[in-house]
Amino acid sequence: MLKCITGFLFACLFLDTLFLEARIWTTRDGTKSQGELIEVTDDRIGLRINGRDYHFSLNRFSDQDQAYVRQWAKVSRCPVCLRGLSGKTKRTSADEFHASCFRCMVCEKGFVGGERFQRDPWGGMAHLSHGKSLESCGSCSKFFVRNKANPRQFFDDGRVSCETCIQDGVLDQALLEQVLQRIKPVMRELGLAEPKGSLALHMVDRNLLNREALKINARGNLRGLTLTKYKVVGRGSRTSATFDHKIFVLYGLPHVECVSVLAHEWAHVWLNERFIDASPPVIEGFCNLVSEHALDREKSKLSSVIRENMLKSDSPVYGAGYRQMKQRLAQIGWAVLLKEMKAKSSPPQS
Ligand SMILES: [Zn+2]
Ligand SMILES: [Zn+2]
Ligand SMILES: [Zn+2]
Ligand SMILES: [Zn+2]
Repeated sequence: MLKCITGFLFACLFLDTLFLEARIWTTRDGTKSQGELIEVTDDRIGLRINGRDYHFSLNRFSDQDQAYVRQWAKVSRCPVCLRGLSGKTKRTSADEFHASCFRCMVCEKGFVGGERFQRDPWGGMAHLSHGKSLESCGSCSKFFVRNKANPRQFFDDGRVSCETCIQDGVLDQALLEQVLQRIKPVMRELGLAEPKGSLALHMVDRNLLNREALKINARGNLRGLTLTKYKVVGRGSRTSATFDHKIFVLYGLPHVECVSVLAHEWAHVWLNERFIDASPPVIEGFCNLVSEHALDREKSKLSSVIRENMLKSDSPVYGAGYRQMKQRLAQIGWAVLLKEMKAKSSPPQS
């Protein structure tokens, strides 16, 4: 009898790990890494590697890996535990869950018909009614339960971060400079040359950032800001300008979000040195486009989440402006787009 129970547990564990077991993935150029498959969407897969979620295009992997993915995708899975659906299940309009997985992460009660609940992009679900007991990461929108969180997830300026994002948080100046170095080749490749003027990075809290932003009448949920001081000397066609740029970035942003912010601000620096003047949707839309380009090099799932948030943003400047510029880019490509932007240059007359 006892043996029988042990046997059953063993079988159960085996099944548990059958699909979630980390396996070795081999890219077409022979690079190997160990990770668990967590999602398959169109031609993209999600892999969990060392506890982090990444997105890759499927065609970068070997035929054997691709066959594994196709097999994996054939099984209908519960979005919470990723195991195949069986036994008692619950359905929403979009998904089907194991009945035991379909529960609120705050009160841990199963959802019942008609109850209103919310989901994050990472599989978290909670009743709408929990108010401040539920927090949503300011960077990746992942839900977490307030009284189970680590104190370091709460910043002094009121921002909150999930455990993963704070682990990847850029909290010191040296790291921030490293992120800037990382995006430079990507910017150069795009055609956004290094600034001629001086460029200083400042890591700040939200209060300071908002105070600096008021100097240029910027408002809203800012993560970064560029202030450029310039001096024009000479007369008529023989003028030259010098620049002094300050980029302010919120402290503690996860590395990938920092890439996105610095690329956006780098684009501002480029525009400012050319005195490019256009409406806010064109300017911010362009900067978000540059940011998206830098994010595209980052394989972590957070990069996809940030890009999706930009695409879905209802801001007339950062959202609509970005979508418009993205359409324009698709029509004419980067080289012509940069030319179009340069044509909007209107240097001050001295
Ligand atoms: Zn499940
Ligand atoms: Zn609940
Ligand atoms: Zn997060
Ligand atoms: Zn901007």
